[in-house]
Amino acid sequence: MKIPFMDLRSLHEGISEELRDVFDRILDKSTFVLGPEVQTFEQEFAAYVGTRYCVALNTGTAAIHLALAALGIGPGDEVITVAHTFIATAEAITAVGATPVFIDIDPISFTMDPTLLEAAITSRTRAIIPVDLYGQVADMDPILEIADHHGISVVEDACQAHGAEYKGRKAGSFGIAGCFSFYPGKNLGACGEGGAVTTDDAELAQRIRMWRDHGSSKRYEHVFPGLNMRMEGIQGGILSVKLKYLDLWNDQRRSAAAAFDSALAMANIETPTQMNNRHHVYHLYVVQSDNRDALRKHLADADIETGLHYPTPLHLQQAYRFLGYREGDLPMTERIKDRILSLPMHPHLKAESIERIAFELQESCYVS
Ligand SMILES: *Cc1c(COP(=O)(O)O)cnc(C)c1O
Repeated sequence: MKIPFMDLRSLHEGISEELRDVFDRILDKSTFVLGPEVQTFEQEFAAYVGTRYCVALNTGTAAIHLALAALGIGPGDEVITVAHTFIATAEAITAVGATPVFIDIDPISFTMDPTLLEAAITSRTRAIIPVDLYGQVADMDPILEIADHHGISVVEDACQAHGAEYKGRKAGSFGIAGCFSFYPGKNLGACGEGGAVTTDDAELAQRIRMWRDHGSSKRYEHVFPGLNMRMEGIQGGILSVKLKYLDLWNDQRRSAAAAFDSALAMANIETPTQMNNRHHVYHLYVVQSDNRDALRKHLADADIETGLHYPTPLHLQQAYRFLGYREGDLPMTERIKDRILSLPMHPHLKAESIERIAFELQESCYVS
């Protein structure tokens, strides 16, 4: 039997009544864009993350884009981030006309290496975007300290880390703004597209609210040229339903990760590390091996789906060739790109599936 990488159908099956109610309610009220369901979700999600405000948007890409725009970051400014992430992190920077500056990662946590930060800061640096990759918060204390010392804003890309924690604080509550995606496959996903910014800063929240709605807070009064990045009413209602299950689903992901950890202990494979003082929510379960391609093929032949997150780092993508980076510029990022393999991971992954995946991986290790 095929073991899929993700299983949204199982996730929604148990709560389909509640989800259908949302569709009915929205159809009834015709509150299709923003509206009371979105407002309620904003309040619930801010409370969950532990920030004063949440502004709901149409995507996670928009969340990072509008956080930077509302901070007044634009042409001539530099924003430091990592190249080992989804391209949206950097697209948000180029979307406001600023320049991405890529630094390397720590190969154990897969997140920004804070010891490289100081050397990347120039007089043009306006923001730092650490990415909470795979479900684990970046090493925030040193990042925030360096940023603070230089008067630079930290915008957290928490798009893969709903419910993750660092020293007891939730992802999205560090820095001036936390950015979330509710793309269906994320730990908290809409039934369609969605995103949000979380913040304690009332003024920033207000500016992002205006940015998402054509630069206005009053209909047809446009204070600046903004954009249309509003959340749909249906997604707000869906997300309120699913938020109630987020902690349970994250616990199920953590149990699956623990089962993988022990099942793979004897195999010649590096399993992911939960760093000290961090609560990992395993958006992805990423192992490392020198024989990655052979392992991946062996699993595919056994009808087990895997993923690569991500096969080409951003500094080597054609899209960012104009920045002038070359192979060899980010050694850790480049080393792991050929070693990483994302195994199936979702809240409803069965114990038998984990055993079968581990069995096939061990088999493959001995053959190769
Ligand atoms: C998913 C994701 C985004 C973008 O979110 P969208 O909702 O797809 O626009 C940004 N950054 C990271 C790290 C992501 O995983």
